[in-house]
Amino acid sequence: MSFLSIDNTVKKFGGLRAVDNVSFSMGKGEIIGLLGPNGSGKTTLINLISGALPTTSGEIMLNGMQLNGRRRDQIVRAGVARTFQLVRILPSLTLIENVMITAVFGRQAHWGAAAIQVAEQALEQVGLAGRAASKAGDLTYIDQKRLELARAIAAEPELLLLDEWLAGLNPTELTEGIALIQKLHRSGLTIIMVEHIIDAVRRLCPRVVVMNSGQLIADEKTEVALSDPRVITAYLGGEIDA
Ligand code: ADP
Ligand code: MG
Repeated sequence: MSFLSIDNTVKKFGGLRAVDNVSFSMGKGEIIGLLGPNGSGKTTLINLISGALPTTSGEIMLNGMQLNGRRRDQIVRAGVARTFQLVRILPSLTLIENVMITAVFGRQAHWGAAAIQVAEQALEQVGLAGRAASKAGDLTYIDQKRLELARAIAAEPELLLLDEWLAGLNPTELTEGIALIQKLHRSGLTIIMVEHIIDAVRRLCPRVVVMNSGQLIADEKTEVALSDPRVITAYLGGEIDA
């Protein structure tokens, strides 16, 4: 049995099929890149898996449990956490408060001292240890990205969905960011990462799934996909920098 399986999944916005009959599956502990030009449906697919949006049809299963049709909080409890393409930190709260919220509402529903401990560990994992009392709104962009990731980790997911988490980082930060994702993957997390930075995808993901106009156009080893004519055509005029 697959850890995650997505079967004939469709999401329509009016007449637009933003996710058009997509199927693929993943084993536990796998890390895959989710690629495709802007508007191809990547974020929508992440929204369907995480329960931010209901599916129009199809089935999404995690560990034998049907995710589609469940509330977002139930999906978090089932072990799914995600980051947002535009970070969703709470600027007026401190870092530890930002992260405690997801520990409390996460998979284990921690409370009190346990929630603080999980939140502190999450901040440490992303390199923000010692900044717990700072205000989130005062953070630099990279540190906001780190905090966004800490919030996802503090939910203690088994499946982590990253929506362009590496976007906008400078080269040094990018190296650190790649190492951080690698560390999370090695700790046993299953990861789907939407990513435009092909070099990062090459380093992190042995396999990629590629979307175009809502449809899955490739599900292959990364090196194979990046030289696949359908993938190259989909990206023509786009941002592939392989
Ligand atoms: P990507 O993340 O690959 O850039 P998206 O999943 O954000 O693409 O968008 C796929 C398509 O669905 C786009 O045409 C986008 O405009 C449309 N879309 C996304 N979200 C919504 C929404 N909430 N309502 C209507 N259309 C949407
Ligand atoms: Mg997107």
